[in-house]
Amino acid sequence: MTATVTLSPLKPARPARPAHPMHALPDIADPTALFSASYAKARRRFRDAAQHRGLGVESTVLDLPGADGETLAVDVVRDGPLDAARLLIVISGVHGPEGYCGSAIQTGLLELGPLEGLIDGPLRDTAVLHIHALNPWGFSHSRRVTQENVDLNRNCVDFHAPLPVNAAYAEIHDLLLPATWPPAPAIEEALAAYAERVGPKGMQRAISLGQYAWADGMFFGGQAPTWSNRALRAILRRHGRRCRQIASIDIHTGLGPYGHGERIFASPEQGAPIFERARQWWGELTSVETGSSSSIPMTGPVQFAQWDECPQAEHTNICLEFGTLPMEQVQQALRAEHWTRRYGADANRTTAARAALKAAFYPDANDWKAAVWRQGREAFVQALAGLQRVPV
Ligand SMILES: [Zn+2]
Repeated sequence: MTATVTLSPLKPARPARPAHPMHALPDIADPTALFSASYAKARRRFRDAAQHRGLGVESTVLDLPGADGETLAVDVVRDGPLDAARLLIVISGVHGPEGYCGSAIQTGLLELGPLEGLIDGPLRDTAVLHIHALNPWGFSHSRRVTQENVDLNRNCVDFHAPLPVNAAYAEIHDLLLPATWPPAPAIEEALAAYAERVGPKGMQRAISLGQYAWADGMFFGGQAPTWSNRALRAILRRHGRRCRQIASIDIHTGLGPYGHGERIFASPEQGAPIFERARQWWGELTSVETGSSSSIPMTGPVQFAQWDECPQAEHTNICLEFGTLPMEQVQQALRAEHWTRRYGADANRTTAARAALKAAFYPDANDWKAAVWRQGREAFVQALAGLQRVPV
């Protein structure tokens, strides 16, 4: 931390003392200003917001430089007592540049002020844990994957057991990442024929379910726990082992309608009671299991680490997924960027592909930013209130 304390210009005005208990909850005057243009700025902003609140920042530093030579780290801020029985975890940056969105929401949530002011009624035995930029290398370098070329949200599998097999991906790996880019028409025709055969969901599943056989491929789940996976597990052991109730909101972008925050039920337990509890907290939820989500079932998402490391707790989790561009465009940006890595493209092409990838996951538009903040804040407040209703 620098010696200079930067006072955030966005600190919300203190709400007028309520004349009625159902007072308006605090909000941010200009939420679009919560968003940053680089990982380094986002990180500084988040840490300043924590410091302004008097909260400590716990950093797990990665021994690799950022895109501009900056320090890369997973930063954790705990807002609330260390022995709280109820814990709400907010995660950003599992997928690199998707972290612009999550980081802005986390910074805004810190700037809203003390948790007690955010819900009607008392806050009981509750803490919030912000995990900022879980994949800091990808965030800084504008890659969705980690420094190991691994999709962190496919990496939380049991590596002592046989790894999942994605036979569908095997059929299209070389079509997705052909030797030349842009792909020849014959390649795109072959992919279109495959998509025709398996349908849109089948295609999405083939590409993004997760695969463990092609280290230079897309949605590669890895062959060992990545640095970020290990960092997450250590954080969960430090902060989650004493909790009875753990909720989490893992913030993503790139799927669904522009600016819409889809609340996707995220749990290895698919039973009705847990889904019903989550539905009561957050309202309308989608499910990858029933096909109501813009996402699909995946192997090894980060929520599985939460179950593994904190088995004593009851868990209630969502992914909050914000739409950006149409899926076709997002997938093309992903393919192009992966192509530069697979074939070792020159610096100019790599830089251009990464800039396009960043733009696909982070629209630089005020309407999108305002919509993201509104829905992020709402989902957070709903989780905080929901946690109060479960026994500990
Ligand atoms: Zn994501």
